[in-house]
Amino acid sequence: MLTKPLSAITKNTMQACGVTADLDHDGGMQVVSPVTGEVVATLAVDDAAATEAAIGKARAAFRDWRMVPAPRRGELVRLFAEELRKSKEDLGRMVSIEAGKSPSEGLGEVQEMIDICDFAVGLSRQLYGLTIATERPGHRMMETWHPLGVVGIITAFNFPCAPWCWNSALALVCGDPVIWKPSEKTPLTALACQAVLDRALARFGDAPEGLSQVLVGGPEVGETLVESENVALISATGSTRMGRIVGPKVAARFGKCILELGGNNAGIVCPSADMDMALRAIAFGAMGTAGQRCTTMRRLFVHESVYDQIVPALVKAYGSVTVGNPLETSALVGPLIDKAAFDGMGAALEEAKALGGTVHGGTRADVEGNGYYVHPALVEMPVHDGPVLRETFAPILYVMKYADFDTVLEDHNAVGGGLSSSIFTTDLREMETFLSARGSDCGIANVNIGTSGAEIGGAFGGEKETGGGRESGSDAWRAYMRRATNTINYSRELPLAQGVVFDI
Ligand code: NAD
Repeated sequence: MLTKPLSAITKNTMQACGVTADLDHDGGMQVVSPVTGEVVATLAVDDAAATEAAIGKARAAFRDWRMVPAPRRGELVRLFAEELRKSKEDLGRMVSIEAGKSPSEGLGEVQEMIDICDFAVGLSRQLYGLTIATERPGHRMMETWHPLGVVGIITAFNFPCAPWCWNSALALVCGDPVIWKPSEKTPLTALACQAVLDRALARFGDAPEGLSQVLVGGPEVGETLVESENVALISATGSTRMGRIVGPKVAARFGKCILELGGNNAGIVCPSADMDMALRAIAFGAMGTAGQRCTTMRRLFVHESVYDQIVPALVKAYGSVTVGNPLETSALVGPLIDKAAFDGMGAALEEAKALGGTVHGGTRADVEGNGYYVHPALVEMPVHDGPVLRETFAPILYVMKYADFDTVLEDHNAVGGGLSSSIFTTDLREMETFLSARGSDCGIANVNIGTSGAEIGGAFGGEKETGGGRESGSDAWRAYMRRATNTINYSRELPLAQGVVFDI
């Protein structure tokens, strides 16, 4: 049992992070914890004028920050990582309170922030351009990378802080100020992260004001950022529905955009799979975070020769998984974010039943309080159709039998989402085919691990309706900078490219 009301724990935790904002703003936006359904804070909302003012401040900050040497910018991120380490427990608790994650997943999300900061510090000394062979004698050609401008970061409820940090750690070392519009369901974690960054800024000393700001509010705040010509890059994480609105608006003003949208991720269990390993990976991938990860496994194709071996074992795991309050118990499955998510899950299961699906689990779990807790659902589907073809943001795993490897690859790719995918096999030919040009069409393709739980070192993102954006590791930093191709003539002649003659 919690010894204090959740709202009191929330306020203590926010205070420990250094947040000074009014958390009981009269008539403000209510923040509801999915853990108990309690209102844990009410916050003042930033209107369009406040958003424009924030953009103005960030623009002014850009003029100074772009001139600070990149390794010095990296020093700020290094200090931020130190402060994050000090506040890891508190920030992890805020993630659990606002998003309903288990303590280990809440802490894991904060660890992801620390990891990307460490990555960005190294990156601050590696913002390399190419030197390119030129066809003209006495010339040199090269690429240089420069800071881009203000970066607007819009994030989803299910990862209340890590995606912001994937963006902001890179943007800051690349020379860009950031403005964060977190989900209206999880603004407290955002305020807490900003307070932790403010501590690093104070230690850093001479960073310009407005380098990192948080705006509280709903889609309308995001829209002001999206439509502003003064925001050079919009990085938006959320549903495909949101991306369909945001993408064209940014394109219409020739802004840059990173879209990190919904997925419909699948796994394939082949005859040669290590069944015990596959079982554990599928259980975490499909039920972890109550099915509320963009990378959650939503579809599973099982070869007919091993179907009766693995599916009953999975059904058993679904029946025994613990569901409960993540702050009070060691339950592996916490709450859904709200009633709309619960209703959406129920509707998808009804649709699946009408198509002949057999549903295991999927009922509401009896947990004290007003949270929406469910037993994860495994649905044996006779067809790859209906709700299987779209993302329902809840713990539903649709399981289908397959006979032929080439056909299953086609079914695997026959959905809108293109985020993450897995194959479970020890057969080299199947493994390499899955990773080849005719294999998985997703941005993430894994072998013998689940679809979720990516590391920061790789570029993260997906194709098709997932939006095509890449964040985090590898060369994702390039999106936060502008590229210039420079050609220098150090000869006494003026040869033109392609042999063109223009003698005057
Ligand atoms: P959502 O689309 O409802 O909201 C996401 C964010 O977009 C919120 O901050 C919201 O206020 C803002 N927003 C909504 N409409 C907007 C508009 N017209 N203009 C500007 N901003 C707008 O998503 P959600 O329910 O918070 O999150 C769940 C979804 O996010 C799922 O589809 C999940 O797959 C996806 N997601 C994707 C990734 C990824 O990296 N690909 C990561 C996390 C979540």
